[in-house]
Amino acid sequence: MYTKDYCPYCVAAKTLLRSKGVDWREINIGNEPRLREEMINLSGGRRTVPQIFVDGVCLGGYDDVSALESRGVLDHILGKTHREKDMAEKHKVIIMGSGPAGLTAAIYAARANLEPVVVAGNEPGGQLTTTTEVENFPGYPDGVQGPQLMEDLKKQAERFGTRFKTGNVDKVDLSQRPYTLHLESGDVLSAEALIISTGASAKWLGLESEQKYRNRGVSACATCDGFFFKGKPIAVVGGGDTALEEALYLTNFATVVHLIHRRNEFRGSVIMQERVLKHPKIKVVWDSVVDEVLGDNAKGVVGARLKNVKTGELTSLVVDGVFMAIGHQPNTAVFNGQLETDDLGYLKVKSHSTYTSVEGVFACGDVADHVYRQAITAAGTGCMAAIDAERWLGSQE
Ligand code: NDP
Repeated sequence: MYTKDYCPYCVAAKTLLRSKGVDWREINIGNEPRLREEMINLSGGRRTVPQIFVDGVCLGGYDDVSALESRGVLDHILGKTHREKDMAEKHKVIIMGSGPAGLTAAIYAARANLEPVVVAGNEPGGQLTTTTEVENFPGYPDGVQGPQLMEDLKKQAERFGTRFKTGNVDKVDLSQRPYTLHLESGDVLSAEALIISTGASAKWLGLESEQKYRNRGVSACATCDGFFFKGKPIAVVGGGDTALEEALYLTNFATVVHLIHRRNEFRGSVIMQERVLKHPKIKVVWDSVVDEVLGDNAKGVVGARLKNVKTGELTSLVVDGVFMAIGHQPNTAVFNGQLETDDLGYLKVKSHSTYTSVEGVFACGDVADHVYRQAITAAGTGCMAAIDAERWLGSQE
């Protein structure tokens, strides 16, 4: 497995392989340009970590391995005999999602002897694992790296007995208690109380060329993939805090960062705007959208065609990477029709609580919050969810 430090998807891949009881050799390409080139060549041009090989065959990254697990073929590829699927594993409290909300809920629930199980999903650690320095989480006067903060929260949850399971939940039945969760792997879990902290995921533009070159120059994670673009020109799309932060971070690697925004003013905070606008390596392209990501099969991304939304003029940029930073959408698809949501798709909770429209099901963090969306507010509501669940379970006895 080719990896680097501070790589959330590497951690996820290792957790998945560990759950399969297989060993692997890790090749950290962080400070080794030679190994980086080796990985790119062996994987057919992929510029994202991890890249996982079995018997010399490239399986791809975490997404690919997790998709193989979903299709039920990973065990076979790893040489494992088919596992007997258990009857539903019974738990008092299951927490779906492992960002700041889920892990804080886990700390509180574990300390209350509720023996919580966290189902970590496709983006273990949540959005903070794909960010750089977090300057506004109380208790860290010098700031803290997002992935480090998540590791610390996970350790704290484990210290009180929280157990973790990796895998996507593809079906949930909230029509009767205990509630059941079906994982893509075929495992079935049941819970007397459910805490939902599935967060929100990065949005994509929806271009065919964007999907075609994903992981081959198109990325939504600057901290994961930025270092593949050392000494190269790149583009960042968006005008919110994420885009501004990613553009600044990417100046550590790129020769130039073209920041493409569809309006003529940023949405992000004033302090970040000031830093971006005075940075010599960042060139802002106002009033413009990406019309197409340009690339070829051998090299991956080689440029982007931009369209000025006011004049309709088309121009081309030569870039080796395009980083999408255009916001997020709540991860609620699996609850469709079972829990009430607002117009934007966020889960509805009763005022000043984490109670959803179904008794015994609680929601916290970004999946139920399109207003604040901060790590600290997610953690705060995670704490509320565990307390709500504990009191609700107590009232059922
Ligand atoms: P935002 O929703 O704030 O910004 C999304 C940006 O992408 C907007 O500028 C938007 O344009 C643009 N956009 C959306 N869709 C498209 C599209 N289809 N094509 C082109 N451009 C598009 O999301 P962020 O992820 O930036 O931030 C989310 C929240 O997290 C915010 O509250 C932010 O403050 C916070 N945050 C805080 C950080 C920190 O404190 N360190 C770091 C990162 C985020 P338009 O402006 O025209 O709508």
